[in-house]
Amino acid sequence: MDGANTPVKTVNVILLGPPGAGKGTQAEKLVESQGMVQLSTGDMLREAKASGTEMGNRVADVMARGELVTDEIVIGLIEEKLTSTDAKGFIFDGFPRTLAQADALGELLEKTGQSLDAVIELEVDDAILVDRIVGRAEQARAAGKPVRADDNAESLKLRLMEYYKKTAPLLGYYHAKGALQSVNAMGSIEEIAAQLADITKSLAA
Ligand code: ADP
Repeated sequence: MDGANTPVKTVNVILLGPPGAGKGTQAEKLVESQGMVQLSTGDMLREAKASGTEMGNRVADVMARGELVTDEIVIGLIEEKLTSTDAKGFIFDGFPRTLAQADALGELLEKTGQSLDAVIELEVDDAILVDRIVGRAEQARAAGKPVRADDNAESLKLRLMEYYKKTAPLLGYYHAKGALQSVNAMGSIEEIAAQLADITKSLAA
């Protein structure tokens, strides 16, 4: 039943996957289809850099190299958003990326009276990731658009290393909590979006 008075449960999900897995693309699709709120630490950090804040300047080189910025900075960004945004259902995109960030997120959600409903892993083979990211940079360049400072083969190598060393352990962490679901993210954008919409809808039911 989908009556106007039926309360809809707020759903909070994490999209987890390597650089180029499509977290940002799929988060945007969930915003459109489910009215959820995207919280992308990558976007927040790029905005800080673009607006020239002191923190933005401090993290710019670290990001361009493909390393992770400190837990303290990104946890601070997320805390600010979680405490200032109405809970409509959050999609965490690019956060958490370390076990310390995962613990901090758990505490923040508890403090704000919310739950984590699922962690969705976007599974993509490494060779495809490299093609997607190098392709994204080439397309942007051809269109005269700005190219991300970390979308080059050298930074990508480091981003992947950082992912496997620091972020992939979160798969085990959330699996142990019974929260992990995996989606094959090598199909078309629309196919993957449909699967993610099904998952979030079933969590809200
Ligand atoms: P990707 O497309 O590689 O997943 P993002 O746009 O999510 O990249 O993030 C770009 C960069 O911003 C990362 O390589 C890292 O330097 C920084 N960053 C973003 N989120 C985090 C985070 N949660 N912890 C640490 N660094 C982060």
